Amino acid sequence: MSILHINEVTKVYEGKVTKRALNQLSFEVEKGEFVAIMGPSGSGKTTLLNMISMVDMPTSGEIIFDGTKPQTLNSEQLAYFRRRQLGFVFQDFNLLPMLSVEENIILPLTLDEQPISVMEERLKSLSRKLDLTAILQKRPNEISGGQAQRTAIARALIHEPTIILADEPTGNLDSNASREVLQLLGKVNKENGATIVMVTHDPIAASFCDRVLFIKDGEFFNEIYQDDRQQTFFQRILNVLSLLGGHVGDFSSIRLP
Ligand code: ADP
Ligand code: MG
Repeated sequence: MSILHINEVTKVYEGKVTKRALNQLSFEVEKGEFVAIMGPSGSGKTTLLNMISMVDMPTSGEIIFDGTKPQTLNSEQLAYFRRRQLGFVFQDFNLLPMLSVEENIILPLTLDEQPISVMEERLKSLSRKLDLTAILQKRPNEISGGQAQRTAIARALIHEPTIILADEPTGNLDSNASREVLQLLGKVNKENGATIVMVTHDPIAASFCDRVLFIKDGEFFNEIYQDDRQQTFFQRILNVLSLLGGHVGDFSSIRLP
C-alpha cells in the first residue's frame, strides 16, 4: 500500500531568473519502505524533501499523504498534521543544547501534551533500542556525533510518525558512527515498520535501503531495488551514479563490512 504519492510535481522558483527545480516528478512510497534519494548537487533533492515535509508547496502537481492532501489544509491544520505525521533527522542533528538527551527525545510528545505514562513507556523502549539508556541525562555537548544522531532518531520516532524524512543523516559522522546509524535506521524500519525517505550522497548509505530513486535536473532518472546482497546492490548503485554524471557519490566515509 502506498503511503505517499508524488504526482507530477513541478516546483518553479520565481526570481531574477526562473528556476524549474522539479519537473513533473512522480513516484510512490510504500508503507514500511526505506527509500534513498540520490542525484547530483542542484538536482532538486532538498526541494523535494521540502515539498514532502510541506515546508513549501509545489507550483503544480499534487502530493497525497496517507489519504490526505496537505495542500487543502489551513495553516493550523497543516502545523498539526506535520507534527503528528512527520519525523525529521538532519545532517547536523538539530538537538537543543540546553536540554538533556531525554528532554530532547520527548520534546515532540510534550508539544502534543501526551500523558506522562505514554512518554515514559516510549522513551524506555526507544532508549533501549537505540542504546541511549546510559546517556539520557547528558547534554548534547557531552556526547559523540553518533550518539547525537541516535538521539535525533529517537526524537524523530517518539511520536510514531507516518514517515521519517532524513536529509544526509550521516553527512557529519565518521565511518563507524555512520554504519551504526544506518543499521539502526534499518532496524527501526524493519521492527517498528517505520517508513523512511532519506536523501544521501553516499552510495554505501544508500545500499542500506530497499530502493534508491535517482533524480536529475528535477526529473525522475532511474530507480533500483535492493536484492539479497548489500555488496551487489552497492555496485549497482555505483553503476547508475556513473551514468548520472555530476559530482555525486564520489566519496564515502563508510566501508562495507
Ligand atoms: P539539491 O538539494 O539536489 O542540491 P536543491 O533542491 O537545493 O538541489 O536545488 C535545485 C535547484 O533549485 C538548484 O538549481 C537551486 O539553485 C535552485 N533553488 C533551490 N532553492 C531555491 C530558492 N529558494 N530560490 C531559487 N532557486 C532555488
Ligand atoms: Mg540539497
